[in-house]
Amino acid sequence: MHSYRETSGLRRHILIVDDELINREILGNLLQQDYEVHFAENGKQALDILLKREHIYSLVLLDLLMPVMDGFELLEKIKADDVLKTIPIIVMTSEKDAEVRSIKLGAADFITKPYDMPEVILARCERIIELQEDKSLIRAAEKDHLTGLYTKDFFTQYIKQIEKYNPENHMDLMVINVEHFHLINELYGRSEGDKVLKCIADLLSQIFDDTQGIRCRTEADYFYVYSKNGTDYDKTLLTLLEGLTDRVPDSHVRLRMGVYPDVDKELIAENWIDRAKTACDRIRGDYSRHIAYYNNEFYEKAKYQEKLINDIDKAILSKDLIVYYQPKYSIQGDTPKLRSAEALIRWKHPELGMISPGDFIPLFESNGLIQKLDRYVWKEAARQVGEWKREYGLSVPVSVNVSRMDIYYPKLRDDFIDLLSSNGLENNELMLEITESAYADNADQLVNVIENLRSDGFMIEMDDFGSGYSSLNMLTTIPIDALKMDMKFIRNMQKDEKSMKLVELVLDIAKFLQVPVIAEGVETEEQLMLLKERGCDIIQGYYFSKPVPPEDFTQFIKKELGQ
Ligand code: C2E
Ligand code: CA
Ligand code: CA
Repeated sequence: MHSYRETSGLRRHILIVDDELINREILGNLLQQDYEVHFAENGKQALDILLKREHIYSLVLLDLLMPVMDGFELLEKIKADDVLKTIPIIVMTSEKDAEVRSIKLGAADFITKPYDMPEVILARCERIIELQEDKSLIRAAEKDHLTGLYTKDFFTQYIKQIEKYNPENHMDLMVINVEHFHLINELYGRSEGDKVLKCIADLLSQIFDDTQGIRCRTEADYFYVYSKNGTDYDKTLLTLLEGLTDRVPDSHVRLRMGVYPDVDKELIAENWIDRAKTACDRIRGDYSRHIAYYNNEFYEKAKYQEKLINDIDKAILSKDLIVYYQPKYSIQGDTPKLRSAEALIRWKHPELGMISPGDFIPLFESNGLIQKLDRYVWKEAARQVGEWKREYGLSVPVSVNVSRMDIYYPKLRDDFIDLLSSNGLENNELMLEITESAYADNADQLVNVIENLRSDGFMIEMDDFGSGYSSLNMLTTIPIDALKMDMKFIRNMQKDEKSMKLVELVLDIAKFLQVPVIAEGVETEEQLMLLKERGCDIIQGYYFSKPVPPEDFTQFIKKELGQ
C-alpha cells in the first residue's frame, strides 16, 4: 500500500545523500526541474529526514562512502523499516564490488561515478520511480479489471496515505452514479453497459489526471473521486455527459453526482465516502436535480434520524409513543353516528418534543423498523378497543395502518388473531388500512394475504385511494371492504368542476364494487354536505375531530351513548 505517487498536485520528492557538496550540486541541479529535491550529507542525516516523514519520498540517491553513517548502514536501516523499505534506492558508486553488496541490501539500481550524461541519470531516476509505483499498485491487486480504476478498498487506503502526509490540504469527495444502470444492461446488453462504465472511467481520468485526483469504481456503477477542493462540478458533469453522448450515443446515460466538499478531517475517509454517497442517493429518481452537495443541513437531518432510530426501543418501553384516535362518522342518517376510529401514532420525545409521524414513518419504512412500531400500535389499539368495550359496553372498531412491509411478515395473521383473543374482540373490531401503493408491489402475494385475513373476518380498507398507483383493474381482483378516498380529492373538490367530477367518479367506482367510501380530511360543513349529497358514507376529518389521545376520545363515546 505504499504507492508514493503524489496525487494531490505536489511534485515527487527525491533525497540525495552524498558527503561531497559538488556531487549534491550536480545532481540537485539536474533533478530539481522535475522533482522536489532534498539533501543529506551522511546516512544519519538521511535517516533522520526519512523518519520525520514530512514528505513521501519517491527515490533516494545514495553515495556509499560517507562519514558518520555510510551508505551500507543506511541501506540496512531502511530495509528494516516497513514503510521506508518500499522507497527505491539508487546507489552511486565507482566500485563493482560495492554493487553486489548493495544489491543484497536492496538497492534498485546504480549510477556510476563519474556521472553519466545527465539525460541518462534523469531517465534512470524516472524509470525506477515508475517501476516502484507500478509494483506497489500491482502488489495489492487494487485495480478494477474493467475500468483500470482503483478498487474502493485501495482507494480508501490511498486517501489515508495521502492524508497522512498532506493533512492540511482542502479536499473534496465526489461520487458519480449511473441512473438505472441495470436498464442499460438489460436493454442494450452487458457489453454496452461495460462500454458506458469504461467511458466514464476514461473521462474521469482525463478530467482528474493523477495530479488532480484519484479515482475508483465500486458496486458496478459508482465512481468516486478524491480531489482538491474547488472543482467546478457543474462543468465536470457536463463534460462527462458530453463525452458519453459522443462515445455511447445509444445508451442515453443519465448521471447523478454527490459531492462532499471540503471534507471534515476529524472524520475518516470511509465517512467522507458515505457522505458523498448519501448526497448522491438523495436525488435518485429526481429528474430536476443532477448534483447534490452534502452540507450541514444533510448532516443535521442524518443526525436527527439516527437519534430517532436509536431511541425507538426506549420510546416503546417508556410509552413515549402514544396512539391517538380520530373518529370516523357515518353521515347518511339524520345525525352523524360514531362508526369507528383510526389509530395514529404520536411520539412525545423527552428531548425533541412532539414529533409527527411524517417525520419518522417514512424513515422507519425505509429501514424496516416500521414493523416493530406497527406491532406496538396494533397491540395498543386492540387493548384500547377492549377497554372501551368493557367500560362503556360500546364497540368502537379501530382501524390500524398496515405498512407495505408488514404484509410480507409471515406471522401477520397469527399476530392479529392473538390480539383479538387476548382482548376479547370480534374480528371486525380491528380493521386494517393498507395504503394504495402497497397494492402495486406484488399483487399476487397481497391478494393472498388479504384473502386469508378476510376469511378470518378482518375488514380491509384501501387507504389513500387515488394517490397514485392502483389501477382500476387491480380493484376488481383485490377484495376490500372499504375505500378511503385520498385527502387531496377533498382539498380540490371545491376548486373546479373537474375535481368535483373526480370525487363523483371515486364514489361511482365504490358503488360498483359495493363498498363504502370513507372521505378523509374533511374540515368544513360545506365539504361534508357536498359529500353527503353524493352518497359518501363515512367521514373522517378535523370537522369532527383531530386525532386525540385515548382519554379525550371517551367524550365521543359518551356523546354517542347520550351521556
Ligand atoms: P394516513 O393514514 O393517511 O392518516 C391520515 C392523516 O391525515 C393523519 O395524519 C391525520 O391526522 C390527518 N388528517 C385527518 N383529518 C384531517 C383533516 O381534516 N385535515 C388535515 N389537514 N389532516 C387530517 P398523521 O396522523 O400525521 O399521519 C400521517 C401519516 O402517517 C398517516 O397517513 C399514515 O400514513 C402514517 N401513520 C400514522 N400512524 C401510523 C402508524 O401507526 N403506522 C403506520 N404504518 N403509519 C402511520
Ligand atoms: Ca391510514
Ligand atoms: Ca389516508
